[in-house]
Amino acid sequence: MSNPDRCAPVPIQWRFKVMARLLCELRKHDFRAARTWIDTMYPRVSVVTRLIRFVCWSLRQMWCDIPAALRCATFARPVSRTPVWLADGNPLENHPWSRDADATLPQRADVVVIGAGFTGGALAYHWSKRATTDSSRKMVIVEMGEAASGSSGRNEGLVVMGRYCHMVFKTVLDYLGRLRAHWPDTLRRQLARQFAVVYCKAAYRNADLIEQTVKNEGFDCDYVRQGWIQARDADQQALLAESVQMALDTGTTDWTTITPIEVERRTGMRVTHNAGFSLAAASFHPAKWVWSLLQVALTSAQVEFYSRTRVARVEDMGEEYRIHTSRGVILARHVVNATESYTPLLHPQFHDRILPTQTQAASGAGGPTAMKPHVGISGTRAFFGKHGGMVMVGSDATRVADHEAGRIQPSRFITKFLLGEMRRYFGEYRYRVTHEWSGTVSYTPDEFPIVGLMDDKRQYIIAGMAGSGTAVSFNAGRCIVNRILGITDEPDDYPPEYFSPKRLLDPDKHTWPQLAES
Ligand SMILES: Cc1cc2nc3c(=O)[nH]c(=O)nc-3n(C[C@H](O)[C@H](O)[C@H](O)COP(=O)(O)OP(=O)(O)OC[C@H]3O[C@@H](n4cnc5c(N)ncnc54)[C@H](O)[C@@H]3O)c2cc1C
Repeated sequence: MSNPDRCAPVPIQWRFKVMARLLCELRKHDFRAARTWIDTMYPRVSVVTRLIRFVCWSLRQMWCDIPAALRCATFARPVSRTPVWLADGNPLENHPWSRDADATLPQRADVVVIGAGFTGGALAYHWSKRATTDSSRKMVIVEMGEAASGSSGRNEGLVVMGRYCHMVFKTVLDYLGRLRAHWPDTLRRQLARQFAVVYCKAAYRNADLIEQTVKNEGFDCDYVRQGWIQARDADQQALLAESVQMALDTGTTDWTTITPIEVERRTGMRVTHNAGFSLAAASFHPAKWVWSLLQVALTSAQVEFYSRTRVARVEDMGEEYRIHTSRGVILARHVVNATESYTPLLHPQFHDRILPTQTQAASGAGGPTAMKPHVGISGTRAFFGKHGGMVMVGSDATRVADHEAGRIQPSRFITKFLLGEMRRYFGEYRYRVTHEWSGTVSYTPDEFPIVGLMDDKRQYIIAGMAGSGTAVSFNAGRCIVNRILGITDEPDDYPPEYFSPKRLLDPDKHTWPQLAES
């Protein structure tokens, strides 16, 4: 499609053309995403009302918002499916074989980490700083793709606190309502509140540790701490005020609210109501963060990394685990699964407990001139970001089948919808979409992460980070490394009564937290 002049009114033929193209481009994922949209945007109304509202919304998108946005946006031919963060090459590509074609996997290791994203990178980094020089204390990281080729190289690039206190409170409370309906409401509320406070405490330390590490190591990963602003519509204002009050009450004061004028000053986004503001959030180049962690770790003799090595199975041999990979078997005393949304493929007991959920993004040149760089910007249904000369848009949170974890299958309809959303918040712009991709994040049923032992022995997992891996992975990696090495003089922010996978795998045998004195 060639675009007419951006300021001209939208001709009727253009609307028909755009609509026809949108309908022709619909794929399986669009129908799944439509279902997510219906469920999240129109809760608490009948199915018929939901459908009617959805049809009206879709027609408005296809007839008004998207045709208007597409008058000033174009798509490269072809649009690359490579996530923009990975477009300029990977310094650890095909490691170690790019440098040593004859390299082989070790037969033994103290620890095998499966996956080299934020989590695998964090484990490697902390191990390299803490393990003794005893050669038996070796950590081997195996990755079926490349370092940061999973969600860690496909995301929005925000270092977040994850979820503010009230959000965690609500999701855990909902879950407890389903799981422990017979418990008194006051008990469930108190417990959910404790979960929220524990999560936030761990996330704050996580964010501070990331900042210290970037500074101390001198990482070149474009780290800037300018917060994350989240628009809220009129009907969400009461909930926003409640969430800010809970943050104040629990001392988790990262989360606050700002006026529309302040929103525009900080982001360039125009809104009509107060927005949520996470003060301590930052932005960075997520893949460079992972590569930097691994590069530092690999300067230690205690860490080895093997890309393009898929783990097919982990076998418990009693005192050791046998890790069956596409390049041979490694025997290890400890295993850490850093496989996030891919976990149920390797460990089927996590089916329906770790839910792979697709999110997508697109990036390109141009975009709204008003948009401010290096600040996290979320509309009510989309995120936006400006990094260097590139503007990114993204959205979606639709569950996909376990075997679809990690697939790149973005919806063109969603990308075009996002262009309309960007116009709604920032006004007219010129933009050329050059990259479009998707990734899978993982949600647990209570949207609370799991960090700890999965078998009562020596096999660990860090997962279920609910689309906020930066909020958990670095600090969780530190704590798991400390547990394996027996280091006890540092705080451990992931107490098993909250974070143990048993909470999901066997809730009846899980030791739930004691209620604190209120
Ligand atoms: C579009 C999008 C936007 C996002 N925005 C943000 C954001 O702004 N801030 C934020 O904090 N989070 C964001 N997230 C979520 C964030 O990217 C994830 O939470 C985070 O990357 C998870 O890191 P990880 O290392 O645990 O998992 P991953 O990065 O998914 O890494 C898991 C790795 O394990 C490997 N693996 C899996 N199975 C095997 C196997 N059998 N053998 C060997 N290797 C295996 C995979 O190849 C993969 O590389 C976003 C995600 C997406 C998709």
